[in-house]
This record gives sequence, C-alpha cells and structure tokens, in this order.
Amino acid sequence: MTFKELGVIEPILKALAEKGYTQPTPIQAQAIPVLLKGKDLLGSAQTGTGKTAAFTIPILQHLAEGVPPKKQRKIQALIITPTRELAIQIDDNIRAYAQHTDIRSTVIFGGVKQESQVKTLKRGVDVLTATPGRLLDLINQGFISLKNVNHFVLDEADQMLDMGFVHDIKKILKKLPQERQSLFFSATMPKSIIELSKQILGDFERVNIAPQQTTAERVDQAIYFVPKKNKTKLLVHVLKTEPFETVLVFSRTKHGANKIVKKLSQAGIQSAAIHGNKSQNQRQKVLNEFKDGKINVLVATDIAARGIDVSQLSLVVQFDLPNVPETYVHRIGRTGRAKASGNAIAFCDKDERPYLKSIEKLIDQRLPVVKHEFNEVVAEEGDSSSAKPQKKSYKPNSRRNSNSRNKKKSN
Ligand code: AMP
Repeated sequence: MTFKELGVIEPILKALAEKGYTQPTPIQAQAIPVLLKGKDLLGSAQTGTGKTAAFTIPILQHLAEGVPPKKQRKIQALIITPTRELAIQIDDNIRAYAQHTDIRSTVIFGGVKQESQVKTLKRGVDVLTATPGRLLDLINQGFISLKNVNHFVLDEADQMLDMGFVHDIKKILKKLPQERQSLFFSATMPKSIIELSKQILGDFERVNIAPQQTTAERVDQAIYFVPKKNKTKLLVHVLKTEPFETVLVFSRTKHGANKIVKKLSQAGIQSAAIHGNKSQNQRQKVLNEFKDGKINVLVATDIAARGIDVSQLSLVVQFDLPNVPETYVHRIGRTGRAKASGNAIAFCDKDERPYLKSIEKLIDQRLPVVKHEFNEVVAEEGDSSSAKPQKKSYKPNSRRNSNSRNKKKSN
C-alpha cells in the first residue's frame, strides 16, 4: 500500500516523500480513505502510531482543493489537543505536509504572551491547532471565530478529560457549525470518552490501532513493591545498575518530579524535569536535549509526557502508580512503540496496592514482581512480595521466566 494508492494528492505526496515516509502506517492506511470521503472518525490510537499524519493529511487535502485568496482566509480546520508540546508537534507536522500547498497554519497555547499569536491569526490562517484554554480566551477577546470550521479534530480526548477540560470542550463545541467533519481520537476508551464522542460525532467510522492489550502484552513489565521513602533509592539503584539509554520517569506531581531530579543529581545521575510549571522555552529545550541524547533521564508528569515523541525510549518508570488504570497502559505505551518491545517498571507502595489491583484487572495480567533490597515492608499474606527481601537486580526481558506471578489469569 502506498500513499498514492490511498488517494493522496501530488503536493502532499511530495512532502511525505521529503519526510522520508515510504509507506502509510496501519492507522494511516485505515483512516485516510475514510476521511477523504468526508466521514467522521472515532480513532482509538496512541501517539507513536502515525496518528497525526492520519488525520492531518486528509484535512490538508480537502483544504488544498479550495484554499481561498489570502485576504479571505478563515479558520477552516480546528485541532484541539491538551498540551502545548502536542500542539506544537501537530502544527510542525501540518507545516511539513502542507509545504507544497498554499495552506497556512498556526498554533496557539497558553503560558506565553498572546501578542505574536494574535498577529499571526490576524494575517489569516486556514488550519489552527490549539489548546482549549488559550483558544477560548482568544475567542472571547474576539480574535478568533469558528464560524467557518469544516473540519474539527479532538485529539487525546482521554487526557483532556483527565485534565478537567470537559467544560472548555463543551464551550468550544457550541461555537462550531453543525455541518462539519469531526474526528475524535483517544488512547483509551472508557465510558466517559464514548459518551463525549457521541456529542461530537455524527455518523462515524471506527479505527482501532494498538488496543490496550497489545501494548500491555508487547511491553516487558515489572512491579517493585517499595515503601514510599525508599522509592528514590530504588530508582537510583535501577538507573545505576542497568544500561538504559533513554529513560522516562513518571511522577504524579510537578513537585515530585522536581524532587526526583534533585535526588538523582545528588546521586550523580543527570536528569531533567518536564511539567506545566516550566516555561515553554524550558520545556522545549529539555525535550530537545533528551531527543539529542544529551540527557538520558527525563522526569515528567502525565500531562507533559504527552508531547514527548521519542521513538527509542528504552525504559519507562512509573515512580507513582496512577489511580486511573488506563493511564498505566498509556504510560507503558511510551516505550515499545510500533512493533518494538520495550521495558516498563512501576513502583508500588502500600497505599498504591488498590491501584495495582485495578491495573492488573484492566490488562488481565499479574505483573511480575522484582525482589530487591529496598523493600522492607512485610507484605500481605499470600503475596509474592512477602518473600524475604533479597538482592536481585532488574534484568530487561528476562523476568518473564523468573517469576511465578507473571502468568496470565486463567479466567
Ligand atoms: P504520531 O503518532 O503522529 O505522533 O507519529 C509518530 C512518529 O512517526 C512521528 O515522528 C512521525 O513523523 C512518524 N511518522 C508518521 N507517519 C509515518 C510514516 N508513514 N512513515 C514513517 N514515519 C512516520
């Protein structure tokens, strides 16, 4: 299958070739023909699958066939995404794919001054990528009208809800024309997401890529039972004993992320934090350093981690277990992208045991437990973590055979 066979037009084909895309990814092969027909789409897909090109290429193609003269440019396509990093990444993609067309795009997000964003908007754009808060802000100030939007994309819907954007999304929906093509993407599909999608989509087709089970099965996972106070020591131990090149550590809070970076630094491990309290420039700088291999360990909150597009992520560490089990799956999906296998470990303290239960139920797997010297808790009876603490270091891709807890539940 080629992009040409999917019906993509010449100027976009040229740009894709220049990007080095030789063939469509599965989500592109499925979504592009549906979207070129003008249908609505519900996509269950994570970043790393080629999702951005899957939805931007058909939109650009629709617009390329009817871009008005510059003076009359109106926003015809709107893409909403939860974080600044993702917004920037999407607009970068759009610019690349549209470079041989007359289409103009821009991106807006909060946390920076609005002047230059407003200036670009005033010159007229066809495609706008935005985070919800700044979008509403500029709509309310009269700088943006959504009256001419024919294509609407809600990206990373599950994260939008997690971040409390539901009211903003509903306000934005009210400002959109009824007649439009709508696309809805979410990495996970809990009930709340399905409900929201019903309010947005008309008659839609569904595309399912990398379902949760596939990610959970592909990634080599392990759990470390550890008291909260020993988590940093354990992290240092893992990072010092295992040769991982690019490590993404998830922290529940921004404060926690900063603390981890400080403790790692005291132990001689260089890392950087990325979260919402950092300025846009700081975040972009850290991301670039991580991508270029100048920093090996990045400590991120869930929100900030959404924008991290690193194909060679070798280890994901969940320093805190999330209370939403789907988030666990999404986090481990940051490693082992496409068909590659990845490594993911999680630290679980006493209070996080109920979260672990929900996670294991969702992925239908018992996670293998790694024994180590930093677990001094007496665990529950019958639990394999109750075994006497002993030193055993983490061995990527070798635990599956070494622990009895990793067997799939028989029911
Ligand atoms: P996404 O899931 O949209 O974040 O894309 C993940 C990565 O895959 C990005 O770095 C894209 O540039 C890249 N990509 C998307 N489509 C293709 C393709 N057909 N061939 C090769 N790389 C691609």
